[in-house]
Amino acid sequence: MTRRRHDWKPSAEQMRLWPAVSGNAINGLGEEHFRRPSPIYWQAPDSTPHGPLQLWFYQRPMPDGMAEARRERQKWIDAPLAPIAAERAERAPAEWTREVERVAKECAADIVGVTAMKAAWVFEGSSVPPQRWVVMFGVAHDYEAMKTAPEGPSNAEVIRQYARAMRAAKGVASWIRSQGWDAVPHAGPSAGAFVMIPPALECGFGELGKHGSIIHRELGSSFRLSCVLTDLPLVPTARDEFGADDFCTRCRLCSDECPPDAIPPEKQLVRGERRWYVDFDKCLPYFNEHGGCGICIAVCPWSRPGVAPTLLTKLARRRGE
Ligand code: SF4
Ligand code: SF4
Repeated sequence: MTRRRHDWKPSAEQMRLWPAVSGNAINGLGEEHFRRPSPIYWQAPDSTPHGPLQLWFYQRPMPDGMAEARRERQKWIDAPLAPIAAERAERAPAEWTREVERVAKECAADIVGVTAMKAAWVFEGSSVPPQRWVVMFGVAHDYEAMKTAPEGPSNAEVIRQYARAMRAAKGVASWIRSQGWDAVPHAGPSAGAFVMIPPALECGFGELGKHGSIIHRELGSSFRLSCVLTDLPLVPTARDEFGADDFCTRCRLCSDECPPDAIPPEKQLVRGERRWYVDFDKCLPYFNEHGGCGICIAVCPWSRPGVAPTLLTKLARRRGE
């Protein structure tokens, strides 16, 4: 894995495409007041200032396994959704919630949570989805593949997991529709109408880490997200705060290992909220030039298989539990 090359510089070829506007300004870095997020990347390339960079990214040489991973992802993107059954099944919200979790796990999801949709998560310029609930799914990366970041095997692994995340979302949406309720699936990397990290935090997937990704108490930082929007009667799942945010104040592995120095050691003010933030203008050129980058999630100690339980025990002991 490439390590600590803080002298790294992006190519002139890529930087010729860089727009006049800073991605950090689009993201609201330094803004004191809340506003909804602005679309920035993984959108229709002609709709955002950084769109030409996205097209450049897609022309990077493909590593081994990438073409197959992209075919698998496309298969699940193209998979048809079941029609909505004419007769609507009725169950108690707690029972529906258990069933949705069961079906999601059968459809390859590793973790599942439910939270109410909030307008605050919807991109400026997009309509707030009418469905009441966001059912979130998480799928874990293979750690050995991610350890190679930013090399090809890690980038192909990310796409494989996007495929699995789409499979979970499509499978659950189809099952809900077979019960007579509407359901709309969504999976990355293409951004939809809303950001997925805030609902994933809200439904109990963990805490935001210094590297801008979620730290889950079992999967660590190494997983992808997808979701389903629905009005099926459900019970929301609780937030899960177990000390990861505090742990990040004492750890600097991701900051130290990020080649373009894109991870500030302190929280930043972003659209009225002080939180961990990755410098978009520093991260993106490195990410693009390497066909992807997951160094920060691979080096996070929470991501190493078997380490999370030990860290949880230590944190609980520190809190006197
Ligand atoms: S993904 Fe971005 S923030 Fe994370 S290590 Fe790579 S360049 Fe740094
Ligand atoms: S590497 Fe350390 S500082 Fe970075 S997200 Fe993980 S625990 Fe937090």
